[in-house]
Amino acid sequence: MEMFDYLIVGAGFAGSILAERLARGCGKKVLIVDRRPHIAGNAYDHYDDAGILVHKYGPHIFHTNSREVFDYLSRFTEWRQYQHRVLASVDGQLVPIPINLDTINRMYGVNLNSFQMDEFLANRAEKLEHIRTSEDVVVSKVGRELYEKFFRGYTRKQWGLDPSELDAQVTARVPTRTNRDDRYFTDSYQAMPKQGFTRMFANLLDHPNIKVMLNTDYREIRDMVPYRELIFTGPVDEYFDYCYGKLPYRCLEFKHETHNKEMLQPVAVINYPNDYAYTRVTEFKHLTGQEHQKTSIVYEFSRAEGDPYYPIPRAENAELYKKYQTLAEANKGVHFVGRLATYRYYNMDQVAAQALTVFANLIGSSRAQAAE
Ligand code: FAD
Ligand code: UDP
Repeated sequence: MEMFDYLIVGAGFAGSILAERLARGCGKKVLIVDRRPHIAGNAYDHYDDAGILVHKYGPHIFHTNSREVFDYLSRFTEWRQYQHRVLASVDGQLVPIPINLDTINRMYGVNLNSFQMDEFLANRAEKLEHIRTSEDVVVSKVGRELYEKFFRGYTRKQWGLDPSELDAQVTARVPTRTNRDDRYFTDSYQAMPKQGFTRMFANLLDHPNIKVMLNTDYREIRDMVPYRELIFTGPVDEYFDYCYGKLPYRCLEFKHETHNKEMLQPVAVINYPNDYAYTRVTEFKHLTGQEHQKTSIVYEFSRAEGDPYYPIPRAENAELYKKYQTLAEANKGVHFVGRLATYRYYNMDQVAAQALTVFANLIGSSRAQAAE
């Protein structure tokens, strides 16, 4: 069998970007394997039985403030401009989340302006000296009542933990606004790949120096394939045979449905903080702009067991990860990249940026040069 310069485990953002850079950027021979039957990792999208483009592993919305990441990916896809909007079902109403001026006015039947909302929140916010947990983040901004209506139930469902048991970074992802901006993200670049994520990944991996093997677990081939260096983007604890114990990851179950109706929801995502077993429902046609007589949605149920989707940000997990990180760093010739391998609650653009940094380090150049 031919010698590969790199064996890459996982064909998600981390693995596919590194494969592209190593092959196209510096002529390396790359074998990329994934145990799933498809490329694109968790960003995988496909046409369902009704012919509607859906995201198999839940809604993926691309947003970034990094021009470098956006320009780099733009070589492999055209974009559809898309601003994500989410409503939360609270007290029998659908109101904007992140909490904004309209959320407050509608929840309380008032007609505040931005200054009055500032005052309204200041009167309710709890004054805390240190913001440590995901509860602290929210109660210190909006007070306990809104925290309980919008955050406590959702977080308990999503993580199986109370917000007081999670690092601040989890709920800090969702801001509070005193204006009427109802976008979920405010990043400078917000767009969806025009022909879907999977097509973008196919373009990334379309190079004569890249060989892709699907339905292939790294363990099955590691002793058969000759390679010089390894890039691993799967769960780091699995790589080391759980020698320090299992790193907790939160799992998800997805229930996909197609409805014989053109549209079901006013926006792409509706969050259910307090009702039902699922956390949110996504209607894909909002994300993709596809026109179709039917519509497909997905419900997300959070689980303790199953495939790993989310690292769980809390101190004791960070400590356990550190032990694996020390092993990983001592493992010369093996590079750990991505959300599962570096145990970070990263968005797609952050994983892309991390992969470009790892590539720059591998070839000893700056990251800006590495993306060229
Ligand atoms: P992955 O995409 O998980 O890829 C890792 C791959 O490695 C997998 O395909 C896996 O099968 C493979 N693998 C693992 N172990 C092995 C092995 N032993 N052998 C072979 N293959 C192996 N980010 C955003 O920016 N916007 C969003 O809207 C967004 N929404 C999300 C919604 C959900 C429900 C989830 C779970 C994540 C979301 N993300 C979002 C985050 C995004 O999915 C990740 O940042 C990104 O996909 C991580 O890429 P990755 O390459 O690190 O990992
Ligand atoms: N969150 C919440 N209520 C909401 C939205 C988010 O409590 O209506 C909390 C919850 O803990 C969630 C976290 O904020 O896990 C981050 O939300 P985000 O929408 O970024 O989650 P993701 O898309 O990564 O699942």
